[in-house]
Amino acid sequence: MAEILKGSNVANFLTEDLISRCKKLNSPTLAIFRIGENSSDISYETGASKRCEKIGINIKKFILPENSSNDEILNTLTEIKNDNSIHGCLMFRPLKDKALEKIACEIIAEKDSDIPPCTAQACIEILDFYGVEIEGKNAVVLGRSEIIGKPVAMLLLNRNATVTICHSKTKNLPEICKRSDIIISAMGKAKFIDSKFVSEGQVIIDVGINFDENNKLCGDVNFDDVEKIVSKITPVPGGVGAVTTSVLAKHVIEAAERRMNL
Ligand code: NAP
Repeated sequence: MAEILKGSNVANFLTEDLISRCKKLNSPTLAIFRIGENSSDISYETGASKRCEKIGINIKKFILPENSSNDEILNTLTEIKNDNSIHGCLMFRPLKDKALEKIACEIIAEKDSDIPPCTAQACIEILDFYGVEIEGKNAVVLGRSEIIGKPVAMLLLNRNATVTICHSKTKNLPEICKRSDIIISAMGKAKFIDSKFVSEGQVIIDVGINFDENNKLCGDVNFDDVEKIVSKITPVPGGVGAVTTSVLAKHVIEAAERRMNL
């Protein structure tokens, strides 16, 4: 039976540290910028707000209607940029077009709390918390998106893992996965990774958030099938997602510390 790498333990550990650091700061504040009422954005926003509240970080919300003009969007972001009481900004992406998003990212660049992307960093926080060595290990990242696949691969590389990035055109995926020490799956395919993809001693971080045939939340990994074989695995729900908001809060605290030259 594999060790279950619960996200809550990591989140609580990070939160305790952030609470004590927050006490030394002058009202660290996170701006949340959202356009429209996308339910997954709102659910992440609720989790992030609760986490920040627990730590002592203030939240300022900037919510625009779906049909907002480019000027309204960019003016609001400029307001966030120029507001000295704001230390970090969570901007929900993607915006309605790529060109607009590029300008928006440039405006808030200094305050962007999602750089490096929080979910990618949450994977590393989990590995570190549970004492999984990264240096020298073979790591496979399933997925090459800008928000998860690529950044998590870079973070692993920076920690001296040997990294293979796989995608929908990769051949022999089961063989590649079986040979690795660490598998990070960010494909968005419900229960895709089963016993054919894994081998003994592996560590699996399941980033996927999907719904199975019974409309139940599940990851990319067929948990029941692989849990008997691998050595450590994150659950879904209760794994990576639980850590992401703590990483977001950590970025706000770090920005506020930089402002105070701490
Ligand atoms: P995405 O942009 O759709 O990217 C999916 C990636 O998986 C693509 O690179 C795609 O390859 C690859 N892929 C798809 N099918 C594959 C297959 N059969 N074999 C190998 N690779 C395959 O998704 P994303 O935004 O990165 O999100 C990935 C998952 O993470 C989703 O389930 C999302 O809901 C979840 N998520 C979780 C959190 C969290 O906090 N836990 C946060 C955000 C997102 P191509 O590039 O070739 O198309």
